[in-house]
Amino acid sequence: GVSGLSRDVLLSLFPVTGTKIYMNLGQPDVIEKYLDLPFDGIGLMRIEFIVSEWIKHHPLYLIKIGKPDEFVNKLADGIARVASAIYPRPVVVRFSDFKTNEYRGLIGGEEFEPEERNPMIGWRGVSRYVSQQYEPAFRLEVRAIKKAREEMGLKNVWVMFPFVRTTWELNKAIGIMEDEGLRRTADFKVWIMAEVPSVVTMADEFSKMVDGFSIGSNDLAQLTLGVDRDSEILGRMGYYDERDPAVLRSMKKLIRVAHKYGRTVSICGQAPSVYPEVTEFLVKEGIDSVSINPDTVIYTRRLVASIEQKLLLRKR
Ligand code: PEP
Ligand code: MG
Repeated sequence: GVSGLSRDVLLSLFPVTGTKIYMNLGQPDVIEKYLDLPFDGIGLMRIEFIVSEWIKHHPLYLIKIGKPDEFVNKLADGIARVASAIYPRPVVVRFSDFKTNEYRGLIGGEEFEPEERNPMIGWRGVSRYVSQQYEPAFRLEVRAIKKAREEMGLKNVWVMFPFVRTTWELNKAIGIMEDEGLRRTADFKVWIMAEVPSVVTMADEFSKMVDGFSIGSNDLAQLTLGVDRDSEILGRMGYYDERDPAVLRSMKKLIRVAHKYGRTVSICGQAPSVYPEVTEFLVKEGIDSVSINPDTVIYTRRLVASIEQKLLLRKR
């Protein structure tokens, strides 16, 4: 690494924590810059950057012009760049989570994307993958994951479904993934994001279907409080707040239920990168990992270690 010390030596300089410290990442190349940081994996790898900056074309357009492999190969390359750099630590790759207006901005996108009045709660996340229109593109995303895991041998690649609303749609999407030959196994974990309050309400049922949850506190706050993330006036008035007791209570409930069913809980929204008190709350509630921005990894590892130490002393 840049410091001239080996990674093992570097990591030994930082406190060990029971709670895993993961990092959020969107641009594959920047991983090189962060290799010296003491993180245990990538808890959220967004693929939107790869699609908009490397692939640039709408996947359905690429299928239409007979170049689906362009999508699969470039996406697999982006994922592999990160997964090989940090192997064997896990990389949780989130399936695409563009909103319709963002998909429309891709080359050839307008033909395939409706104009929605409210894209934030529109045709997004899993509702896309199970739709007749987008399903072929979802299959390309799955093939890219499969290529990274099987052809490139990167078994540290896991997946995460964003914007899950119901068990039936998730069941259908997992079915499509299995149809492409990707099944949940001990080394292939499938997570879902807890962003829509229905995931918390139905956490027991979702627990039977997946290995873990990751709290998308940005969307969970928006939808729990009924506050548009982008509303300036509500933002100024202080309504949009991931520390709101209703949001915290929701996170706590999810951890309780998921653990009852032996499932893990992580968080990949902005909250723990911005509010140490949220990190403290979640560690006390027993969250399994927190995934944060690279610039807060060192601070958060130290913070989590001190919270865990306090908890241990209290238990004695
Ligand atoms: C979230 O909602 O907290 C999240 C991580 O997803 P995004 O911000 O990409 O919607
Ligand atoms: Mg979200």
